[in-house]
Amino acid sequence: MKTETFDVLVVGAGAAGMMCAIEAGRRGRSVRVVDHARAPGEKIRISGGGRCNFTNTGTSVANFLGENPMFAASALKRYSQHDFIKRVDRAGIAWHEKTLGQLFCDDSAKQIIRMLTDDMRAAGVVLSTGVGVDRVERVGEGFEAALSDGSVVRCASLVVASGGKSIPKMGATGWGYDLARQMGLRVTETRPALVPLTFEAGLLEQTTPLAGVAVDAVVSAGKTRFEEAMLFTHRGLSGPAILQISSYWREGEAITVKMAPGVDVLAQLKAAKAENGGKQAVHTALGHIVPRRLAEVLTAREGAGGKLAEVGDKVLARLDAAVNGWTVKPVGSEGYRTAEVTLGGVATDQLDQQTMATKSVPGLYFIGEVVDVTGWLGGYNFQWAWSSGWAAGQAC
Ligand SMILES: Cc1cc2nc3c(=O)[nH]c(=O)nc-3n(C[C@H](O)[C@H](O)[C@H](O)COP(=O)(O)OP(=O)(O)OC[C@H]3O[C@@H](n4cnc5c(N)ncnc54)[C@H](O)[C@@H]3O)c2cc1C
Repeated sequence: MKTETFDVLVVGAGAAGMMCAIEAGRRGRSVRVVDHARAPGEKIRISGGGRCNFTNTGTSVANFLGENPMFAASALKRYSQHDFIKRVDRAGIAWHEKTLGQLFCDDSAKQIIRMLTDDMRAAGVVLSTGVGVDRVERVGEGFEAALSDGSVVRCASLVVASGGKSIPKMGATGWGYDLARQMGLRVTETRPALVPLTFEAGLLEQTTPLAGVAVDAVVSAGKTRFEEAMLFTHRGLSGPAILQISSYWREGEAITVKMAPGVDVLAQLKAAKAENGGKQAVHTALGHIVPRRLAEVLTAREGAGGKLAEVGDKVLARLDAAVNGWTVKPVGSEGYRTAEVTLGGVATDQLDQQTMATKSVPGLYFIGEVVDVTGWLGGYNFQWAWSSGWAAGQAC
């Protein structure tokens, strides 16, 4: 049995693991990174539609969920979005800002992966892909990890950067959570987040004809609201506004949707009715406010198929409510199959916020998505991966 010894073993060559390995390597630590995927940074590669929304210029703790979102403050401050942008600039990677401070590569997410793998090589990090970590045991002051190729790695510091459970097809498992529990750490409840929401059959029958229709919406769950695009799908609702609210929504709860935020629908329909003797069809008038297909479905549902002159103001008020006061109960979500992230994870009260080291097991670190720190849609999750990876890299 082949046994090798490193100062640091990093499990997972994702955003967080690579960042940590680079920093530890630069400090002169001998570092090995192991990933059971065929290539490093697979989630980076598919992120942001292949262009990787690598950070958000407005990142702050307000953009994160978890038992204690303030936990993230130290790492986000020590290695901020501005530090990562400088790094991307130094690597000569061109980027652009989309809406809401979201930064994307102009060309390809692969440039970010290349930047990180080049930096790992320069820092002397040994990277092994296609090799998983099966078991880990505490041995003396350090750890012994059994790899899937039959070899063993001994290390003083073990950094768990194994990500969450989303997209199992890409090899995501709950391995990091299991290891945390094995080491006696608390793990908060995990659930799919940044995920499309689904409807039950009866409701789907009404909304399926709208599949593909997108609106700029305000979507609320409890006191939380997001104003972004929303998309009707064959399963329910998707689009940025829905992915965002999915992190706050819980089974059994309703969400409320305004599909023409800021528009007084009733006043506009009444004004249209007063023109030309109300000859305009109701769906045509409503089609000036929301997409035509949505207007047709809503007017048919409210029995307002005719001309404006033929319907009373009560019906127009019902249309107003259907557009800007839609309360709907999703039955569930599309789950980890399509979720961008996992909400919950290793409880932050078990970790040191400066270094990501566990308080109870010296030498054991958790970084990135496996930790109970979850960002909004918009580049925040990668920023957490860079910041937490950097913080652990200074200490492990
Ligand atoms: C489709 C999609 C698009 C996304 N787009 C964006 C975006 O544009 N911007 C953004 O901020 N966030 C985005 N995210 C979220 C982002 O990808 C994650 O938050 C981020 O990748 C987490 O980084 P990580 O290093 O913690 O984990 P990961 O990137 O998941 O890396 C974990 C690695 O550990 C490996 N691993 C797990 N268990 C083991 C084991 N036992 N042995 C060996 N290796 C193991 C896995 O193979 C994986 O490579 C997206 C997510 C998805 C699914």
